[in-house]
Amino acid sequence: MSTTYVRATMKKGFRYCRVKGAMLELLSDPPWLDHVHSLGEIGAALLPVSAPCEPSKVVCLGVNYADHAKEFKHEMPECPLLFMKAPSAVIGPDQDIVYPPYWTTQVDYEGELAIVIGKTAKNVPASQALGYVFGYTCLNDVTARDLQRKDGQWTRAKSFDTFCPIGPHIVTDIDPSNLRIRTLVNGTVRQESSTANLLFKIPQIVEFVSKSMTLLPGDVIATGTPSGVGPLKPGDEVAIEIEQVGTLRNKVVPGA
Ligand code: MG
Repeated sequence: MSTTYVRATMKKGFRYCRVKGAMLELLSDPPWLDHVHSLGEIGAALLPVSAPCEPSKVVCLGVNYADHAKEFKHEMPECPLLFMKAPSAVIGPDQDIVYPPYWTTQVDYEGELAIVIGKTAKNVPASQALGYVFGYTCLNDVTARDLQRKDGQWTRAKSFDTFCPIGPHIVTDIDPSNLRIRTLVNGTVRQESSTANLLFKIPQIVEFVSKSMTLLPGDVIATGTPSGVGPLKPGDEVAIEIEQVGTLRNKVVPGA
Protein backbone atom coordinates (compact mmCIF):
# COMPACT_ATOMS: atom_id res chain seq x y z
CA MET A 1 0.00 0.00 0.00
CA SER A 2 1.30 3.44 -0.84
CA THR A 3 1.63 6.17 1.76
CA THR A 4 1.75 9.93 1.18
CA TYR A 5 3.98 12.35 3.11
CA VAL A 6 4.13 16.14 3.15
CA ARG A 7 6.30 18.68 4.91
CA ALA A 8 3.99 21.14 6.63
CA THR A 9 4.82 24.73 7.47
CA MET A 10 4.35 25.30 11.21
CA LYS A 11 4.82 28.43 13.30
CA LYS A 12 8.28 27.18 14.32
CA GLY A 13 9.65 25.73 11.08
CA PHE A 14 8.70 22.59 9.21
CA ARG A 15 7.23 19.26 10.26
CA TYR A 16 7.04 16.05 8.22
CA CYS A 17 3.53 14.57 8.21
CA ARG A 18 1.83 11.38 7.04
CA VAL A 19 -1.36 12.14 5.11
CA LYS A 20 -4.39 10.31 6.53
CA GLY A 21 -7.38 11.46 4.49
CA ALA A 22 -8.31 14.96 5.67
CA MET A 23 -5.90 14.69 8.60
CA LEU A 24 -2.15 15.03 8.89
CA GLU A 25 -0.25 12.88 11.38
CA LEU A 26 2.61 15.02 12.69
CA LEU A 27 5.91 13.09 12.79
CA SER A 28 8.84 13.50 15.17
CA ASP A 29 11.44 13.23 12.38
CA PRO A 30 11.76 12.73 8.63
CA PRO A 31 9.65 9.69 7.73
CA TRP A 32 12.58 7.63 6.36
CA LEU A 33 14.20 7.39 9.80
CA ASP A 34 13.68 4.19 11.84
CA HIS A 35 12.86 5.91 15.12
CA VAL A 36 10.18 8.24 13.73
CA HIS A 37 7.05 8.43 15.86
CA SER A 38 3.69 10.17 15.87
CA LEU A 39 3.11 13.47 17.66
CA GLY A 40 -0.65 13.57 17.10
CA GLU A 41 -2.96 14.69 14.31
CA ILE A 42 -4.21 17.96 12.89
CA GLY A 43 -6.65 18.88 10.10
CA ALA A 44 -4.81 19.06 6.77
CA ALA A 45 -6.66 22.24 5.80
CA LEU A 46 -5.01 24.06 8.74
CA LEU A 47 -1.44 23.72 7.49
CA PRO A 48 0.15 24.93 4.26
CA VAL A 49 2.70 22.51 2.84
CA SER A 50 6.19 23.25 1.56
CA ALA A 51 8.53 21.22 -0.64
CA PRO A 52 8.19 17.63 0.66
CA CYS A 53 11.89 17.25 1.55
CA GLU A 54 15.05 19.33 2.02
CA PRO A 55 17.62 17.80 -0.34
CA SER A 56 21.33 18.29 0.30
CA LYS A 57 21.56 18.07 -3.50
CA VAL A 58 19.25 17.84 -6.49
CA VAL A 59 20.86 15.60 -9.10
CA CYS A 60 19.31 15.73 -12.56
CA LEU A 61 19.49 13.66 -15.71
CA GLY A 62 19.67 15.40 -19.06
CA VAL A 63 18.39 13.69 -22.20
CA ASN A 64 16.67 10.68 -20.62
CA TYR A 65 13.64 10.36 -22.92
CA ALA A 66 14.25 9.38 -26.56
CA ASP A 67 11.60 11.85 -27.76
CA HIS A 68 13.24 14.79 -25.95
CA ALA A 69 16.68 13.80 -27.32
CA LYS A 70 15.24 13.92 -30.85
CA GLU A 71 13.60 17.30 -30.17
CA PHE A 72 16.97 18.81 -29.26
CA LYS A 73 18.91 16.76 -31.85
CA HIS A 74 21.02 15.22 -29.07
CA GLU A 75 22.84 11.94 -29.57
CA MET A 76 21.47 9.12 -27.41
CA PRO A 77 23.74 9.11 -24.36
CA GLU A 78 25.83 6.01 -23.64
CA CYS A 79 25.49 6.67 -19.92
CA PRO A 80 23.29 9.07 -17.92
CA LEU A 81 24.18 12.74 -18.36
CA LEU A 82 24.23 14.32 -14.88
CA PHE A 83 23.98 17.91 -13.72
CA MET A 84 22.81 19.56 -10.50
CA LYS A 85 20.42 22.24 -9.39
CA ALA A 86 21.26 24.32 -6.31
CA PRO A 87 19.23 23.22 -3.24
CA SER A 88 18.49 26.93 -2.70
CA ALA A 89 16.36 26.84 -5.89
CA VAL A 90 13.85 24.44 -4.30
CA ILE A 91 10.31 25.68 -3.71
CA GLY A 92 7.12 23.81 -2.81
CA PRO A 93 3.68 23.47 -4.34
CA ASP A 94 1.78 26.72 -4.94
CA GLN A 95 4.92 28.79 -4.38
CA ASP A 96 5.82 31.21 -7.15
CA ILE A 97 8.47 30.70 -9.82
CA VAL A 98 10.22 34.08 -10.12
CA TYR A 99 11.10 35.05 -13.70
CA PRO A 100 14.55 36.67 -13.48
CA PRO A 101 14.42 40.34 -14.48
CA TYR A 102 17.85 40.14 -16.18
CA TRP A 103 20.09 37.85 -18.31
CA THR A 104 17.37 35.55 -19.68
CA THR A 105 14.41 35.89 -22.03
CA GLN A 106 13.59 32.18 -22.31
CA VAL A 107 12.53 30.35 -19.16
CA ASP A 108 11.25 26.83 -19.94
CA TYR A 109 9.31 24.26 -17.92
CA GLU A 110 10.49 20.61 -17.81
CA GLY A 111 8.10 18.17 -16.12
CA GLU A 112 9.92 15.27 -14.43
CA LEU A 113 9.41 12.32 -12.11
CA ALA A 114 11.71 12.73 -9.11
CA ILE A 115 13.17 10.05 -6.85
CA VAL A 116 13.50 10.81 -3.13
CA ILE A 117 16.32 8.86 -1.46
CA GLY A 118 15.55 7.18 1.89
CA LYS A 119 18.90 5.61 2.89
CA THR A 120 22.52 6.68 2.46
CA ALA A 121 23.53 5.20 -0.89
CA LYS A 122 27.06 4.65 -2.19
CA ASN A 123 27.94 2.18 -4.96
CA VAL A 124 24.49 0.62 -4.87
CA PRO A 125 23.94 -2.07 -7.53
CA ALA A 126 20.82 -1.68 -9.68
CA SER A 127 19.45 -4.95 -8.26
CA GLN A 128 19.27 -3.36 -4.79
CA ALA A 129 18.58 0.24 -5.80
CA LEU A 130 14.87 0.37 -5.05
CA GLY A 131 15.68 -0.43 -1.41
CA TYR A 132 17.34 3.00 -1.19
CA VAL A 133 14.40 4.88 -2.69
CA PHE A 134 11.97 6.34 -0.16
CA GLY A 135 9.38 7.47 -2.70
CA TYR A 136 8.52 9.65 -5.66
CA THR A 137 7.36 13.19 -6.31
CA CYS A 138 6.96 15.67 -9.18
CA LEU A 139 9.66 18.16 -10.11
CA ASN A 140 9.76 21.06 -12.55
CA ASP A 141 13.32 21.47 -13.86
CA VAL A 142 12.82 25.16 -14.71
CA THR A 143 15.58 26.22 -17.11
CA ALA A 144 16.81 29.49 -18.60
CA ARG A 145 17.27 27.88 -22.02
CA ASP A 146 19.15 30.79 -23.59
CA LEU A 147 21.71 30.74 -20.75
CA GLN A 148 22.00 26.94 -20.92
CA ARG A 149 22.98 27.27 -24.61
CA LYS A 150 25.26 30.24 -24.00
CA ASP A 151 27.13 28.93 -20.93
CA GLY A 152 27.82 25.30 -21.84
CA GLN A 153 28.00 24.63 -18.08
CA TRP A 154 24.35 24.57 -16.96
CA THR A 155 24.65 25.72 -13.34
CA ARG A 156 23.46 29.30 -13.84
CA ALA A 157 20.62 28.34 -16.20
CA LYS A 158 19.27 25.67 -13.84
CA SER A 159 19.77 27.20 -10.40
CA PHE A 160 18.05 30.58 -10.16
CA ASP A 161 16.11 30.85 -6.91
CA THR A 162 12.65 29.19 -7.32
CA PHE A 163 13.74 27.20 -10.42
CA CYS A 164 13.20 23.84 -8.67
CA PRO A 165 9.55 23.34 -7.67
CA ILE A 166 9.12 19.93 -5.94
CA GLY A 167 5.96 18.28 -4.63
CA PRO A 168 3.21 18.41 -3.69
CA HIS A 169 4.08 15.33 -1.58
CA ILE A 170 6.10 12.10 -1.59
CA VAL A 171 4.32 8.87 -2.45
CA THR A 172 5.93 5.60 -1.35
CA ASP A 173 5.53 1.99 -2.50
CA ILE A 174 4.39 2.57 -6.06
CA ASP A 175 5.70 0.97 -9.25
CA PRO A 176 7.31 3.90 -11.13
CA SER A 177 8.00 1.99 -14.35
CA ASN A 178 4.93 3.00 -16.39
CA LEU A 179 3.28 6.18 -15.09
CA ARG A 180 1.64 8.80 -17.31
CA ILE A 181 3.40 12.16 -17.00
CA ARG A 182 1.96 15.44 -18.31
CA THR A 183 2.82 19.13 -18.12
CA LEU A 184 0.04 21.68 -18.50
CA VAL A 185 0.49 25.43 -18.92
CA ASN A 186 -2.67 27.42 -18.18
CA GLY A 187 -4.64 24.17 -18.52
CA THR A 188 -3.25 23.23 -21.97
CA VAL A 189 -1.27 19.98 -22.23
CA ARG A 190 2.30 20.70 -23.37
CA GLN A 191 4.11 17.47 -22.50
CA GLU A 192 2.65 13.98 -22.35
CA SER A 193 4.55 10.74 -22.05
CA SER A 194 5.07 7.75 -19.78
CA THR A 195 7.92 6.87 -17.48
CA ALA A 196 8.07 3.66 -19.55
CA ASN A 197 9.91 5.83 -22.10
CA LEU A 198 12.82 6.63 -19.77
CA LEU A 199 16.08 5.61 -21.47
CA PHE A 200 17.80 4.83 -18.15
CA LYS A 201 15.40 3.29 -15.65
CA ILE A 202 15.25 4.13 -11.98
CA PRO A 203 17.42 1.24 -10.66
CA GLN A 204 20.15 2.06 -13.23
CA ILE A 205 19.92 5.76 -12.37
CA VAL A 206 20.41 5.14 -8.63
CA GLU A 207 23.30 2.79 -9.37
CA PHE A 208 24.98 5.31 -11.68
CA VAL A 209 24.56 8.38 -9.46
CA SER A 210 25.64 6.50 -6.31
CA LYS A 211 28.81 5.35 -8.08
CA SER A 212 29.65 9.01 -8.54
CA MET A 213 28.53 10.53 -5.24
CA THR A 214 27.06 9.50 -1.90
CA LEU A 215 23.33 10.05 -1.86
CA LEU A 216 21.85 11.13 1.47
CA PRO A 217 18.32 10.62 2.77
CA GLY A 218 16.10 13.38 1.40
CA ASP A 219 18.26 13.87 -1.69
CA VAL A 220 16.37 14.18 -4.95
CA ILE A 221 17.13 12.79 -8.41
CA ALA A 222 15.15 14.24 -11.31
CA THR A 223 14.83 11.56 -13.97
CA GLY A 224 14.64 13.77 -17.09
CA THR A 225 11.91 15.32 -19.19
CA PRO A 226 9.96 14.08 -22.23
CA SER A 227 9.47 16.09 -25.44
CA GLY A 228 7.38 19.23 -25.57
CA VAL A 229 9.43 21.55 -23.37
CA GLY A 230 8.57 25.18 -23.96
CA PRO A 231 8.58 28.68 -22.54
CA LEU A 232 6.84 30.18 -19.54
CA LYS A 233 5.99 33.81 -19.04
CA PRO A 234 4.94 35.82 -15.99
CA GLY A 235 1.30 35.15 -15.19
CA ASP A 236 1.38 31.51 -16.38
CA GLU A 237 0.32 28.60 -14.18
CA VAL A 238 2.30 25.40 -14.79
CA ALA A 239 1.22 21.97 -13.54
CA ILE A 240 3.25 18.74 -13.56
CA GLU A 241 0.87 15.80 -13.27
CA ILE A 242 2.12 12.24 -12.69
CA GLU A 243 -0.19 9.26 -12.39
CA GLN A 244 -0.31 7.80 -8.85
CA VAL A 245 2.00 10.60 -7.64
CA GLY A 246 0.04 13.84 -7.83
CA THR A 247 0.01 17.31 -9.37
CA LEU A 248 2.55 20.05 -8.68
CA ARG A 249 1.23 23.55 -9.45
CA ASN A 250 3.16 26.83 -9.50
CA LYS A 251 2.55 30.29 -10.89
CA VAL A 252 5.18 32.38 -12.64
CA VAL A 253 5.65 35.93 -11.38
CA PRO A 254 7.92 38.70 -12.66
CA GLY A 255 11.11 39.29 -10.68
CA ALA A 256 11.58 42.69 -9.12
MG1 MG B 1 15.44 18.39 -17.03
